[in-house]
Amino acid sequence: MPEGAEESGRGMTELDFAAVVPGLLDWYDRNARILPWREDSSPYRVWISEIMLQQTRVEAAKPYFERFLAALPDLEALAAAPEEQLLKLWEGLGYYSRVRNLARCARILLAEYGGRFPASAEELRGLPGIGEYTAGAIASISFGLPEPAVDGNVLRVAARLTGYTGEVAQPRFRKEITERLRAVYPAGRCGDFTQSLMELGAVVCLPNGAPKCSLCPLAELCEGRLAGTAAEIPVRAPKKPRRVELRSVFLLCCGERVALRKRPPEGLLAGLWEFPSLAGAFEPSRQAELGIPPETPVRRVLSARHVFTHLEWEMQGYLVELPQPPAGYQWVTREELEERISLPSAFRAFRRFLLTGK
Ligand code: SF4
Repeated sequence: MPEGAEESGRGMTELDFAAVVPGLLDWYDRNARILPWREDSSPYRVWISEIMLQQTRVEAAKPYFERFLAALPDLEALAAAPEEQLLKLWEGLGYYSRVRNLARCARILLAEYGGRFPASAEELRGLPGIGEYTAGAIASISFGLPEPAVDGNVLRVAARLTGYTGEVAQPRFRKEITERLRAVYPAGRCGDFTQSLMELGAVVCLPNGAPKCSLCPLAELCEGRLAGTAAEIPVRAPKKPRRVELRSVFLLCCGERVALRKRPPEGLLAGLWEFPSLAGAFEPSRQAELGIPPETPVRRVLSARHVFTHLEWEMQGYLVELPQPPAGYQWVTREELEERISLPSAFRAFRRFLLTGK
């Protein structure tokens, strides 16, 4: 926290957000990137793109978006998609509950809203997986309503613009910024205003490293820049260290097939496929827990690490060749593993090992 900053809600100037609008829109008109979801601002496309962008950078999201839209171009296709297809289309993006919520939401829209998105942020917020931010994005970009979409990027831009040196994660700050922005949404250009704030945060008022103030259309108004504190904003509370968990992962092979199982329906990676695994370090005395007959060689082949939001898995991988398939697993070919099965990226290194030997 910069010297002199206090707990929360401090340091924010009375910057008139109305003064920001013309310069920002003018800059956006001249600089907006061409992005696949901007070609057409129908709610379906805005919704899918915003859910993807909650966890992924724009460049990485583009091929996912195009693949998803080609496979599931509308609500009907999404509502009818088998779960395996949904998970495969989402593979690599993580947070699989989001794609399940997309399908749930599509079914609700078809059953209760006549297959249309409601043109109201409040009703949008009542749908599965649609929070304050996504509702604001759809309402403003697709329906032209004066509804801000305030995510971490917009909070950062707003904190710098107002020279705010309190913690940006405070709900009070988000609420105040949302209200102040809502009051200045320009009639007829609500969607562009939402996108111009996002765009400025993505390409000029950057999240990592110094903001590019010399390229910024708001430089003359920006209190953070004028006070020389922009680079120290946004202020965030220190993160708690992640819990580290040791796991033993087993590549059980029987001829051409390998064993998978579904994770429990609740909790981390709920209901997704995984290689059989045990919490903690492997001891031969634990083989029976996995149905591996005693005396079967268990060879340690690789290690991998995966970082979740609050947790880190340190994984040791073991290869086991079995003459008979033990019960309790789904046995799939390597080809199915590559083309049909969606595996969480936590297991990417193990799948690669099975497919390539490396
Ligand atoms: Fe961000 Fe700099 Fe622009 Fe202020 S002047 S909004 S800190 S890029």
